[in-house]
Amino acid sequence: MTSKELKALGIENENLGGSTGNKWFAKGELIESYSPTNGKLIGKVRSTTKKEYEKVIQEAEKAKLVWRDIPAPKRGEIVRQLGEKLRELKPILGKLVSYEMGKSYQEGLGEVQEMIDICDFAVGLSRQLYGNTIHSERPGHRMYDQYHPLGTVGIITAFNFPVAVWSWNAALALVCGDVVVWKPSEKTPLCAVACQHIIADILKANKLPEGISSIITGDAEVGKWIAEDERIPLVSATGSTRMGKQVAATVAQRLGKSLLELGGNNAIIVTPSADLKMTIIGAVFGAVGTAGQRCTSTRRLIIHESIYDKVKKSLVDAYKQIKIGDPLDSNNHMGPLIDTAAVDMYLSALDKVKAEGGKLLTKGEVLKGKGYESGCYVTPVIAEVENEYEIVQHETFAPILYLIKYTGEVDNAIALQNGVKQGLSSAIMTNSLRESELFLSQNGSDCGIANVNIGTSGAEIGGAFGGEKDTGGGRESGSDAWKIYMRRQTNTINYTTNLPLAQGIKFDL
Ligand code: NAD
Repeated sequence: MTSKELKALGIENENLGGSTGNKWFAKGELIESYSPTNGKLIGKVRSTTKKEYEKVIQEAEKAKLVWRDIPAPKRGEIVRQLGEKLRELKPILGKLVSYEMGKSYQEGLGEVQEMIDICDFAVGLSRQLYGNTIHSERPGHRMYDQYHPLGTVGIITAFNFPVAVWSWNAALALVCGDVVVWKPSEKTPLCAVACQHIIADILKANKLPEGISSIITGDAEVGKWIAEDERIPLVSATGSTRMGKQVAATVAQRLGKSLLELGGNNAIIVTPSADLKMTIIGAVFGAVGTAGQRCTSTRRLIIHESIYDKVKKSLVDAYKQIKIGDPLDSNNHMGPLIDTAAVDMYLSALDKVKAEGGKLLTKGEVLKGKGYESGCYVTPVIAEVENEYEIVQHETFAPILYLIKYTGEVDNAIALQNGVKQGLSSAIMTNSLRESELFLSQNGSDCGIANVNIGTSGAEIGGAFGGEKDTGGGRESGSDAWKIYMRRQTNTINYTTNLPLAQGIKFDL
């Protein structure tokens, strides 16, 4: 990526990482952002100090009083402008996502498209923040419920979707009348700096308070300030289950609300009637897309014994076709892992698979030589395992696909699919109505996302996104996920001259 392209996104060699609106001020330690694609330094970002954090929250406190008074459809207009700007910058922001995070350019563009889509959704939503009207049991009374802005929403995000997750939260929170403070991953700070420039320019052009959108940069310590802060009624945190448990405990201690989007351990059940061509495409994209670093990546394939060998062979053949290399080169299917620490985790997981008795069907190695100088490129692995292996029970954020055999009826496969702690995404490949309906029923998948005849990976913004169990229970994006960004109030109005009490209680003076 050229320095001219970076400049167009507001990125210099050294960047100030903290800002409220367009006021950039961070003076803390330098965070260096290296591209996993080629190991080169892209830029540096100053992390936010505690004193600067205070300033950010004070600006947010001031801005929230102005923002909540602006009618929701007018707030929607600001989000519409954000979507328009993202349309204009899509090629270049998509490139930065690919360059800083390592996902393919197509996936980088897809991530920006998700941002545009959620802005469009939020604009419509800004005229649809509906409450209910309720029939009162008392004569001459009217009841309704309505939704008010919450205040400041803290957003903590992971490295693997360095721009989209912010927009899922911010676009909804903004139309709901909240102001946002974003703590991006320390592994992808430049993507966040770019997004903040975009929204800050829009706020300035519309003469709105800068504190409506802020970022603070830094590591887990900076994220903890948000979790502890009583001025932040909602903390939306996306990342590992380990992080989510810490954030949830801290936020619960002060009786705040958390929206948790944590790790997955997603499976596709492959039944005897599955369309195998679709299955292989869905499974391979699900396992190697974003180098296995999506929360919805396919980690496990639970295959009926009658077709197990056939599926296994097709997969091994398909893996031979996968081209690994620079994600900005559209000929490649798979780019690098985020950093060398992720490579170590991949290698350690492969050792554990072998130690527990699993069999690797493709070679797992770190690629060396021309084009692989960053040390972050690995080969995708298929391994035959048992579901109860300790390593299979864990989410390894790398392209490792586990094959698990099931026998008998689909109930056995569903039990295996549900037999992990995480509950994000799941899928079944079947042409049997009975199997698919069972899978979607209360006796079926226990995940937040359950698909039929598509893979586990990728989701449309129109649906509520999130998962159960160790995935944290939060829902973001579409459907009625907006409600968590608002406080609900029930109102009862008496338009008579009597004061009848509820439940028929008599109280005469
Ligand atoms: P991570 O947990 O290491 O970090 C995520 C963010 O949390 C970072 O900004 C980090 O600085 C911050 N953080 C870490 N510890 C914290 C603490 N104690 N208090 C406050 N903030 C803290 O995760 P990662 O490696 O960046 O991302 C990968 C993980 O994210 C995977 O588990 C993946 O499944 C998950 N993920 C989930 C979703 C989802 O929607 N369910 C989406 C994307 C990623």
